[in-house]
Amino acid sequence: MKKYLLILLSAASAMLSQAQTLKECGNTAHDHLLQETVPGYTERRQMIEDFTQKFIEKEMMNGGSRASTIITIPVVVHVVFENDLENITDAQVLSQIDVLNEDLRRLNADAADTPAEFEGVAADFEIEFCLATIDPDGNPTTGILRIPTTETSFGISDDIKFSASGGSDAWPADEYLNIWCGDLGGGLLGYAQFPGGPDNTDGVVITYSSFGREGYVLAPYDLGRTGTHEVGHWLNLYHIWGDDFDCSGSDLVADTPNQEVATYGCPSSPLADACNLSIQFQNYMDYTDDACYNMFTEGQKERARALFEPGGARFDLGNSIKCISYNFDAAALEILVPTGTYCFSTFSPVVTIRNTGSEVMTSVDINYSVDGATPVTFYWTGSLDTYETEDVTLPSLSLGDGAHSLTITVSDPNGMPDEYAGNNETSSDFFINTFGLTLPLVQGFEADPFPYTGYSVINPNGSFTWERTTAASKLGSASIFMNHFENTAVGAVDEMELPAYNMTGITAAHLDFDVAYAVYTPGGDYSDTLQVLVSDDCGVTWNSVYYKAWPDLNTAGATGTAFVPTQDQWRFESVSLTPYIGDKLIVKFRTVSSWENNLYVDNINIASGTVGIDEMSDNAWFDVYPNPANSWINIAYGFAQSPTVNIEIINLAGQVVLSDMAPNIPGQSNQTSLLVNSLPAGVYSVRMFDEAHAVQRTFVKN
Ligand SMILES: [Zn+2]
Repeated sequence: MKKYLLILLSAASAMLSQAQTLKECGNTAHDHLLQETVPGYTERRQMIEDFTQKFIEKEMMNGGSRASTIITIPVVVHVVFENDLENITDAQVLSQIDVLNEDLRRLNADAADTPAEFEGVAADFEIEFCLATIDPDGNPTTGILRIPTTETSFGISDDIKFSASGGSDAWPADEYLNIWCGDLGGGLLGYAQFPGGPDNTDGVVITYSSFGREGYVLAPYDLGRTGTHEVGHWLNLYHIWGDDFDCSGSDLVADTPNQEVATYGCPSSPLADACNLSIQFQNYMDYTDDACYNMFTEGQKERARALFEPGGARFDLGNSIKCISYNFDAAALEILVPTGTYCFSTFSPVVTIRNTGSEVMTSVDINYSVDGATPVTFYWTGSLDTYETEDVTLPSLSLGDGAHSLTITVSDPNGMPDEYAGNNETSSDFFINTFGLTLPLVQGFEADPFPYTGYSVINPNGSFTWERTTAASKLGSASIFMNHFENTAVGAVDEMELPAYNMTGITAAHLDFDVAYAVYTPGGDYSDTLQVLVSDDCGVTWNSVYYKAWPDLNTAGATGTAFVPTQDQWRFESVSLTPYIGDKLIVKFRTVSSWENNLYVDNINIASGTVGIDEMSDNAWFDVYPNPANSWINIAYGFAQSPTVNIEIINLAGQVVLSDMAPNIPGQSNQTSLLVNSLPAGVYSVRMFDEAHAVQRTFVKN
């Protein structure tokens, strides 16, 4: 590998030593340098590529339907200069930002020069750039740093990115795009770091004489397109010819024509090569002269935009607000207490506030209102730097059982008018239940809308979460599901918390539910997860009683389309809650996204009792005997509505091994028998269900 790198670098420098007019971007050599020297870089690149390919596949399946928003990226430009010429003017810096905003938004005047055959795929990336107005310490900045150096040139060594080696240290890569301007030497125009590299070298480097399109810029690289090209790399785009010298390589973009080698100069269109009758040398990721560039493609846009999805490598940067500047702005971010179901009648609300102004915040009014009543003001004082947060505990409240809402707004930071109203308010709908509901819980998610009173959906990232669907159900016409097919936020947690149940006098209980799940990626490299947690102390502490991922969670094979289970693709699950019985019992379902495929849950039932003890509700009950069984089982049952009911015998692997139907006279005690002599000895569940209700019991076959 070392030898390979040396050959590669010397090949690159051989090219650099040729005439100035032969364009050179150092990105490929720099990428190989990182592969050689940075542990884990290659693996991170592969993970980002997997994420990108999955995004593109799923976007195509959805017809590219995902809503696009304009992303604005704060930029800091480090002008590292050894002489006056290299100390480029503010106007020259600004001209580069202008070029980026034109080219990435397809507002470039020469967009009209895109050949008709490529117009259909020419893309507006919907990505914009602004010079940062707030520095990492929260102080105002022009976004332009001027750093004198004694170094005469930098090459691709990354020395320009560290003050210790005569350059300028990067600002945090999750808040800024770092662009370094300096003398790269040897005719090298620039290089960028692909997403996935170290934070302290992340960004783009452009030689001073090709920086922007005003001031000291040298033809034919004098229109700021070196910046566009390098930002393309930084947005995970490869050279359009795939960095090979034949037709085998690819830029991993479907709508750019396969291309043999780099194009230099400014040829006329159409231009054929060994791979294609008309190559796309107008693409910013080729090597043509600045005046011949005019387009990116939709396929390239998909690669770039994938980075800014939740879970993408540049997601945080896409949400950076380092270009916005308010002197006095407070934000009410989130109510931490109370949320969901709350077992205590007296509590102290907790809210997270943030200083989003540039001045240190020393006071703010926190106005809180319960159930729409006149707000009460809590006068907070303290010291919060720009973007610092604090969890503020408010005076205690006492409320009766039932549904409530708490709305909190902030105003008058430092006694001044709040300059931005869009982040001033947060609210929480919660349910106080000091006694607890009475078992059993029979929840088929048939009612609309969801979430129901006393249920809470906890969705910290504000993206996809548990929702009711009528696309699939085990019983009835609805279930609850997580849209992991579209939920790019890998690692994001979503919870559905059920109401608290009173457990006084109850010594045994169990939870039943139906689940359906399939992965998207075959082979089990990735899986979303399902976990069930229970609390016997009103949500202060939680115990895990169920956890499954691929292959245990699957109820169907991997599928490349959004998973919708058939009736056969559900599995019944039963969990004992007996070890966790206290005064009250709260159950919650938690899922963690791996951006794979949809997860469904239906028929959540919680009942007192364990196996072998009668389990009843108002709507369905049954009993099984003898237990243990030998040749047959007798089933006594009653369902409130249906004229017939279904019976399933399920083995420990969750497979239905016997099924039958039986007549049911509503409101009466019915009885049937089932031959089980063909079953191997072991533990089974017998389950009875109609359109709306299900009951289930375990028995032993001798
Ligand atoms: Zn390049």
